[in-house]
Amino acid sequence: MSDVVGVTGASGFIGSHIVRELLEGGTRVLGTVRRPSEVAHLTALPGAPDRLELATADLLDEDAFDDLVVRCDSVIHTAGPYTLDVKDPVRDLVEPFVAGTLNVLRAGRESGRVKRVVLTSSMAAITDEPDPKHVYTEKDWNVRSSLKRNPYYFAKVSAERAAWEFMKREGRDAFELVAINPFLVIGPSMIPALNTSSRIFAELLNGNYPGLMDFAWGMVDVRDVATAHVRALEAEGASGRYLCAAETVTMRELVRLLDQHGYEASARIKFNLTGPVGGFAVKLASWLRPRGTGAYLRSHVGRIPRFDNGKIRRELGVEFRPVERSILDTMESLEHWGHVPRRTSPAQSA
Ligand code: NAP
Repeated sequence: MSDVVGVTGASGFIGSHIVRELLEGGTRVLGTVRRPSEVAHLTALPGAPDRLELATADLLDEDAFDDLVVRCDSVIHTAGPYTLDVKDPVRDLVEPFVAGTLNVLRAGRESGRVKRVVLTSSMAAITDEPDPKHVYTEKDWNVRSSLKRNPYYFAKVSAERAAWEFMKREGRDAFELVAINPFLVIGPSMIPALNTSSRIFAELLNGNYPGLMDFAWGMVDVRDVATAHVRALEAEGASGRYLCAAETVTMRELVRLLDQHGYEASARIKFNLTGPVGGFAVKLASWLRPRGTGAYLRSHVGRIPRFDNGKIRRELGVEFRPVERSILDTMESLEHWGHVPRRTSPAQSA
């Protein structure tokens, strides 16, 4: 199925790992990037000189993907502005995510060659305010987001909905669609830019968190996310959505792990903002933060996400790395790219 694979957003945090994994598997890759100057990490990959071709494409340019997609047997659509805070939510989030996804799907249908498109959706399309009593699965849809409430979440759920509606309307006989819904993606970055998901770690170590809070994240390693995308292309019966998360980690557990490995995280946290009083203070303070971040804080504090990742393990055979390993690899990567101070004390139990 995947003789020639198109990858949009090939130079991004997740896209780069997908390209690496495809090249390692001997696949020919046609990638799109927005900034052709930022691709040295891709062209240096083993297999790249013979099997990687890159083209420039912007999601908002309706025909930008046509020439590339027509030469692909399948496409992984990962490009999109992963950021919570923007000036103009429609122009900066909804349009690139929704119109961009439809542009790629239209190109796929018109190519007559593409057999499957794998869409990088998100947990944002599953929930934007985890109910700690509920175990989330692929059946859950985020129905609460709006442009005003949390534009990134709204854009992601709108894009996935638009994709499934497109398939119902005009794509069904042309090709298949599979969606991967990753939670917080962590792990080593092949690029210097600080990904929004790694910002949590960087802010913690740079002393930007006012206190220990009742936060918990469903985390997944970027290398496992890449594997999930590649398996979703190749697995015979892959269909529908795949919730993609390894384990839930609380902020308290994260701080403890970082301390154990010499990162001195607790020393950079001044206050204890856990419990109902702390939660109230966090919600109050969230109104002083930029809109997207503030909304995230209010809808996630005190809410431990629970999920069932059985479908992706069963149907795509994805085995998730232990999350502690992924966290430590994230830290090494952040140190490497200069986003956090280098450890001065050696790891105590590494
Ligand atoms: P990333 O590193 O910022 O990658 C996003 C890629 O999309 C970049 O290569 C970016 O190009 C490209 N892009 C953005 N706007 C574009 C546009 N208008 N036209 C063409 N390309 C554009 O972020 P990421 O974490 O890899 O995110 C990839 C996908 O995963 C996104 O769809 C995101 O919503 C989704 N996702 C991410 C996470 C996570 O925790 N990281 C979790 C769930 C879902 P530039 O480099 O030029 O900006």
